[in-house]
Order: sequence, then structure tokens, then C-alpha cells
Amino acid sequence: MARAPDTLTLHPASTLAVRRGRVASFDLDGRLLTYYEDGVLYKRALDSRVHARRRVRGRRERFLVPDDRARGVFERAREVAASWLEGAGGEARARLSAVLEWTPERLFAERERFSRVYKPISILPPDRYFTIVLQATEGCTWNRCTFCSFYSGRPFAAKDPEAFREHARAVREFLGKNALLRKDLFLADGNALALSAARLLPIFETARAVFPGRPVYSFIDVFSGERHEPGFWKALKEAGLAGVYVGMETGHDPLLAWLNKPGSQQELLQFVQVLKGAGLFVGLIVMVGAGGDRFREAHYRDTLEALAAMPLTPKDLVFLSPFVEDPRSVYRERREAEGIRPLGEEETLSELERFARAIRGLGLRAARYDIREFLY
Ligand code: SF4
Repeated sequence: MARAPDTLTLHPASTLAVRRGRVASFDLDGRLLTYYEDGVLYKRALDSRVHARRRVRGRRERFLVPDDRARGVFERAREVAASWLEGAGGEARARLSAVLEWTPERLFAERERFSRVYKPISILPPDRYFTIVLQATEGCTWNRCTFCSFYSGRPFAAKDPEAFREHARAVREFLGKNALLRKDLFLADGNALALSAARLLPIFETARAVFPGRPVYSFIDVFSGERHEPGFWKALKEAGLAGVYVGMETGHDPLLAWLNKPGSQQELLQFVQVLKGAGLFVGLIVMVGAGGDRFREAHYRDTLEALAAMPLTPKDLVFLSPFVEDPRSVYRERREAEGIRPLGEEETLSELERFARAIRGLGLRAARYDIREFLY
């Protein structure tokens, strides 16, 4: 690959510096965003954990960088910025000087600031990693799907209006100018939209007052969402809700039951109809490989059948999530007890491609959603 030429670019909400093939980007407060060197792309999460990505023999590999190595990444990115300081004037000088104030120690201290503002953020949809998360609720109302440990040990709780207002202001303070890069809001955790309209509408009002002009997205499961009247979704749309992400998992009812997730294909179809009737974007998440070899064919067949029956548009999105088995999960225990074989890496890849081809054949968009790449 051709080496990027040495440049310093002042984007409206970030700074990009390139020197001898090393590429670093920073937010307007000077904090590191990403760093690229020797074929590895490093991304700094808001809590200063560093995620790395590279291609090895055509395959994408990702890993969490230990802090001692992350320190080296922070230092080398800073060197790239420092190399542009001499001779820089005006805006460029101000931005580079801000970067140099972010020593590795100061970047690591962001972890402490992050934990004062947020409870752990377990997951986001992959097209919302660069959002502003606001935690209206904690945990999940159900918390009993056998495969899911995102919120285990965290009972569902909702913030009252005052606590939510304080949280939103604290998030604004924590993000600083980094917020300029983030164009939408995400109401967390697992199913914040399970709350009543009476509780949610003031939350939307606060969120949009603290971060004006940004559309709102959130997760919702079928069994929580279907309890609301169609008017609920229209009211939320008017209040700023732009779209929802539905953990569909599968269109095959026996598999859904085996995963201990409430709902059915029929309920899902009705629910998506209501969401589309309210004019919302819908992202549907399908777990590819869930249920191993026993459910493989029926999962594929019924999921496709369900997707084909939904009033989706090419703007909606189907996320294909390669199934990741948590070794401590009830799912693992049950699978082993019943002698179900998990799909291997190659099988999962070919299944992902089969799903993607079929979904595109329906005129819909499909995208990969690897939960191991989650970053906020
Ligand atoms: S998959 Fe969704 S509904 Fe099930 S436990 Fe996890 S967050 Fe809750």
C-alpha cells in the first residue's frame, strides 16, 4: 500500500497529522482518537482503552492493547503531532499545542473521569460507536436470555428526571469538544424504551436540550416494544427518536425459545410494522451461528422468511452478528448437555455470506456486526 504523504490537516472537528507513514488523529481538545502505524490501526476509546485492528493473511484481527503498550501508542502519536509544531502558526499551532498537553498519564486519567460519568457501557450497534451515549436506564428488564451476559448482575433501574439531567450535563462536560464529532444520541442501556411515554418524553426533552439538534437512537426488544401502543412510537418520533435497533436474533421460533428469549416471529412482524408505521429507522440484529448445527438450516430459512415479510426499506439495516459463545453462559451448558455442535469459524463465515447474499437479494442492506469490535 502506498505510504500516505506527510500532511497536517485541520478538519472542522478534528486534526489529522501524518509523518513518515504514521497517521494520528485528535479531537479539538487535543485527545488522541486514532493512530496508524505498520499496518495496525489503534483506536482510543473514551476510557482510554486502546483497541487495535490489522489484517493477517486476508483476515481481520482485533485485540485490546495492554496499557503498557497503549502508553507507547500515545507517545508515538504525540511525536507525530510534535513534528509539525515547528513553523506552525495560528490555528495549527493552537491545536498542536493542545495535543501536546495530553501526556499518556493525562490520557489514562480519562478512565477515572469516564467511570464517574458512566456505568459500564456493554454494547452499541456498530454504526453508533461514534454516538453520544446517555444512560437513561441501567441493565435489561429481562436479563435471562441464555447467551447474553451484557447486563448480568445489573438489575434494571431507571434514572429519575433530575438524575438524568445531571448525567447528561456530566457527559457534556466529560466529552468537551469531542462531542463535535458525534452527530447523534444513543439512549442506553439494553431497553430504555421499555419505560412509559410519561417517563421517556422528559428524558428526550433533556437529552435534546443538553445536546441540541441530534437525532436519538436506542435498542428495544420485541417483548418490551410490543407492549406500547402505536401512538407511543409516533410521540417518541416527534420528540426526536430517529430509529431503533431490535435484537431479533432469529426468525425461527423454536430457536428463540431455546435461547430463552421471549417473543415470536409473528410478534416481531407486527412490531416492525408498528415501528415503520411511525416512520422510524429499524436496525435488526440477527445472530448467525446461534443454535449451532442443530438449528442452522431452520434458523436461516425462517429468518429470511421473516425479513422478506417485513415492510423494511433500503434505508433500514440488517446486522449479521457472528455468534460469540460466552464460556460461562447458560447457553454453553445447554448446548453441551444437548450435544449441539457449534459452527466453526469457516462455517460461520460461509453462513454470514449466505445470509448477506439472500438479504441483499431481498433489496435490503446487510452489514457485519462483530460484538468483539465494540468500542465507545
Ligand atoms: S439479549 Fe437483550 S433481552 Fe436478552 S438478556 Fe440480553 S439485553 Fe436482555
